[in-house]
Amino acid sequence: MRQKFVAGNWKMNLTLPEAQALTSEIVHMLHDELSGPKPQVVICPPFPLLMGVHRLLGDSGNPALGAQNFHQKESGAYTGEVSARQLHSVGCEYVILGHSERRQHFREDDALLAEKLRTALAAGLKPIFCVGESLETREADETFDFIGQQLANGLFHLSKEDFAKVVIAYEPIWAIGTGRTATSAQAQEVHAFIRQQVAAAYDQATADDTTILYGGSANAQNARELFSQPDVDGGLIGGASLKSRDFVEIVK
Ligand code: PGA
Repeated sequence: MRQKFVAGNWKMNLTLPEAQALTSEIVHMLHDELSGPKPQVVICPPFPLLMGVHRLLGDSGNPALGAQNFHQKESGAYTGEVSARQLHSVGCEYVILGHSERRQHFREDDALLAEKLRTALAAGLKPIFCVGESLETREADETFDFIGQQLANGLFHLSKEDFAKVVIAYEPIWAIGTGRTATSAQAQEVHAFIRQQVAAAYDQATADDTTILYGGSANAQNARELFSQPDVDGGLIGGASLKSRDFVEIVK
């Protein structure tokens, strides 16, 4: 059985004191309010905040620490960049890859993402790999073709063993930060498609074990409905992960 999974993507927000206050609140609320089987929770702060947040998360692995990006090369003369091994060494277990904001603003393409995936896995990081279509693609009825290509080019070159370490996030671009969430039926339809593609590329057991998150204006009000869909295993949360009460309600 795959575990439910909620990751908070803080993007380029919060100072260290703000991040520490938010983390403490989240840790305490999760401890006090969650009973029974816990979902895996991951918090993904910006680079300078990683160590300060990690100290407050402790070493239980839940909540775990994740990063939002890294450079594809292992080390060397890349002024201003951060390596996957450095992230691992400060306590990161996960890293977000292929987010539409990086594909769009930083021109990260399938070839670069394939290289970054290999670097992340070699450093011991588990990738949260994002896919998702634009509004234009959806309206042209090309969503499945587009996501099929993103998966084939970005992920399915991995061995089955490496693929097992990857979490997939379906994030329709038109839903990110817009307040316009996919309906639970729209999310379920794409998640089921992604799982079918994984089964075709690997096998059904691998597909059944793959965690597939929804992201895009998920919040405390719509999370229950979205996450109750059979193929939606949790969420990648942007805006609502910056408020402790909202984030913890989503986890609950
Ligand atoms: P949002 O962002 O929840 O603010 O829409 C999600 C994401 O970009 O991961």
